[in-house]
Amino acid sequence: MNIEKRLVCLFFLFLSLPSLLFGWGYETHKIINYYAAKILPRQMENFRIHADYLSLHSGDPDNWKNFIPGEPVRHYIDLDVFDSEPFDDLPRKYDDFVEKYTAEEVEKNGLLPWVIIEYLDLMTVNMKKNRWPEVFACAYALGHYVADAHQPLHLTMNYDGQLTGNTGIHERYESTMINYYINEIKIDKITKIKYISSPVDFVFDFLIDGYSKIGVILDADTKYKKYLEKEPEKYYEFLWKDTKKITLEQINKAVYALTCFWYTAWVNAGRPEIPKIKESKLLPTIENEIDWRRIRRN
Ligand SMILES: [Zn+2]
Repeated sequence: MNIEKRLVCLFFLFLSLPSLLFGWGYETHKIINYYAAKILPRQMENFRIHADYLSLHSGDPDNWKNFIPGEPVRHYIDLDVFDSEPFDDLPRKYDDFVEKYTAEEVEKNGLLPWVIIEYLDLMTVNMKKNRWPEVFACAYALGHYVADAHQPLHLTMNYDGQLTGNTGIHERYESTMINYYINEIKIDKITKIKYISSPVDFVFDFLIDGYSKIGVILDADTKYKKYLEKEPEKYYEFLWKDTKKITLEQINKAVYALTCFWYTAWVNAGRPEIPKIKESKLLPTIENEIDWRRIRRN
């Protein structure tokens, strides 16, 4: 292999690394965006037809960590830095967080809930202005962050089990295990999509609910990690057995929340007629800062 080819390979490996390390595995992101699109109401048919595009780009925001400064902290929030279960003293709005804990603390411990709100608004603004390629780019990004917010290990300072003797669990749980059992992920039929009148409360409700599942993952790892070295298949089989229920619950909740958010953006934009756009007219993968600026913010 010549040096250029080797560099290209290295570059792609580098691009894919963060998604391997942090965020549901790509396959889970794809599933969540795809099914959330498929269950949209009939009035949004011309949105629904782009399920494949939304699915294909569902992992893109993990790659943005490589060129957008400040991107990594947008994929998580360490809730337990600020409060403990049942999180009764946790504010909701970003400004209230900053007032209570300082901007520096909030920035350091993750911005995920407000990134979701930001994309909901960005999607709404672009819909109002009939900028449909941007709308779909915002939609797949929103899907990514909503999915991350349903991965329980994105909600704690013990995100990799490093504080409880479970180091490495983040990747084992969300990528290796899921990749083994991807065919067992079933998406429930959803019939009732709701309009979200208070997005920030809706987000914190599912964050706090997701946080309560962390123990199931760590307990399973503690019980079975003795198999990791010599019988890894056995480890993953048992890890899946113990976490299957909560994992399917979280993935299904992410699909539901995302559909509701897309629907809410459309309602907030005044229920505009969605034009039938060819997939070739949608934005390609955003791979640098200049592409990123094509998503106009007002
Ligand atoms: Zn992510």
